[in-house]
Amino acid sequence: MPSSFRALRLGLIVLLILVGTTLSAGWAMHQANRQALATDAQRATQQLGLYATSLHTLIERYRALPAVLALDPELIAALRGPLDAPLQDALNRKLERINGAANSSTLELLDRTGLAIAASNWRLPSSYVGSNYGFRPYFKQTRTHGSGRFYAVGVTSGVPGYFLSSAVNDEHGRFLGAMVVKLEFPELEREWRQGSDVLLVSDARGIIFIANQDGWRYRELAPLSGADRAELAATRQYDKQPLVPLQHQVLTHFDGNSHLSRVQGPDGTAEYLWQSLPLEGDGWTLHLLRKPQVSDDGRNAALAAAAIWLSLVFAALFVSQRLRLARLRRRSREALKRQVEERTRELRTAQEGLVQSAKLAALGQMSAALAHEINQPLTTQRMQLETLRLLLDHGRFDEARQALEPLEQMLARMAALTGHLKTFARNSPGGLRERLDLATVVDQALHLLEARMRSEEVDVALYLARPAWVLGDAIRLEQVLINLLRNALDAMADKRYKRLEIRIETDQQQWRLSVLDSGGGIDDANLVKVFDPFFTTKPVGEGLGLGLAISYGIVIEAGGQLQVDNLPGGARFSLTLPRALEPVC
Ligand code: ADP
Repeated sequence: MPSSFRALRLGLIVLLILVGTTLSAGWAMHQANRQALATDAQRATQQLGLYATSLHTLIERYRALPAVLALDPELIAALRGPLDAPLQDALNRKLERINGAANSSTLELLDRTGLAIAASNWRLPSSYVGSNYGFRPYFKQTRTHGSGRFYAVGVTSGVPGYFLSSAVNDEHGRFLGAMVVKLEFPELEREWRQGSDVLLVSDARGIIFIANQDGWRYRELAPLSGADRAELAATRQYDKQPLVPLQHQVLTHFDGNSHLSRVQGPDGTAEYLWQSLPLEGDGWTLHLLRKPQVSDDGRNAALAAAAIWLSLVFAALFVSQRLRLARLRRRSREALKRQVEERTRELRTAQEGLVQSAKLAALGQMSAALAHEINQPLTTQRMQLETLRLLLDHGRFDEARQALEPLEQMLARMAALTGHLKTFARNSPGGLRERLDLATVVDQALHLLEARMRSEEVDVALYLARPAWVLGDAIRLEQVLINLLRNALDAMADKRYKRLEIRIETDQQQWRLSVLDSGGGIDDANLVKVFDPFFTTKPVGEGLGLGLAISYGIVIEAGGQLQVDNLPGGARFSLTLPRALEPVC
């Protein structure tokens, strides 16, 4: 792989790790935070329910109060008039008492025009008595529907509150005036103030009129229409209070009533988990704003995701590395196998060549003896031919015919020798496995060496079990035997008594052919070396040290063994080969 490609690959992996880690950590953190917010939102919804219940309970407690008071005959009589100062005083005190007992904020009695003729706060400078509230929606509702309710800032007191009113009718059901109870929620707001959450109540137009924290009240959640503004002016609902928009931007929606928003509140801009709960009846909505909790979950999730991502990347890298190594190993194994096969082929060819060369070299060394073997009979034959001519000249035909016989025999022997020489010199391919008789191989080898043995006066003793069937290559086995015999003759060359013993014996499984000489044997130190290539003790030019190494190879290839040991007179070489099946006659 070129180094630039490797660098590029490394760069890509590093990039993959960095980008992947960042993305997975970011994604996991986002998910974890979102999950935490959703859980928070759920909790906030439950809390909102509790707040709504407390508000609802507070209002419901007073809902029946004006209706009950409207049945009071004293109040009815007062509204019928005429109203004098003592009666009004008595009414004021009565309302004051009831207000104290009921624990409401204010009680007031309005006549049919909306004028307050008596009120529980008659003693205060902000007394309602004498003020006309005919413009207030609750009064109008009461006149038309018998009851009314309205949240407004008191035009006289400046204190906001919830007005509940009920019509006061005469016995004929005619409208005489209205009994009004005003509820203020300071305790509720104080109670809600505990904790860091922002709690708000907005009206149907989206104007916040109850808040547990300063600065949030009289804020518009949505822009007001012109008609809304006109009506607010007419009813003087929030009277002189300036209304300011509450800027907020939704960041994430969880569901219709729950979202994460950035809010420009009175204390500056902050993110809030904003939960809303619409209340029944007046179109009010309760809001709970909570700052999102910074939890460890997001960080832990990011770390876990990064760890998972890194593990995945490293696992993938590990696997791909292993696969690459395995591929490389397979490739180099295949290359090695091919190389070995090629070398083996080359070696085999070289070995074949070597076997043949060694054989030809041996033949060359034997050539003198062989030439003698052929020349001698030729001389004899020439003499015999002379004798034959003389016999024919003298007409001695019978004797001439007799003289022909040894001539014929001699020619036949020479033809056999040259024929054998031709066969032996032929290049025989390795690996041939034909059925052959070991004893015949011995005959053939002795045939080639016969002249030398005769001239060196070697005493040859043969103990050949025949036929000795084995599988192999006859020419190559003969080559082995010629090597063994020539080595034996070489070893005995300077000995006075030369004896060569050749045996062929058998046991159940194999044939053993042994060649024993009287050459004095092999030095113990050399016994293990004689089969090594190029080991020789002969003078330069006479021995190459390849004969036994090649013979060993030939025997092993034929499935046999070649061993050597020393006996008292000389060395003994033993060739064993597995027995082949007898030929079926
Ligand atoms: P070379 O005949 O060319 O030396 P060989 O491999 O045929 O090669 O023989 C190796 C050596 O083994 C011989 O040089 C000789 O020392 C020893 N050797 C082989 N046969 C005999 C034997 N019959 N007696 C003693 N030494 C032997």
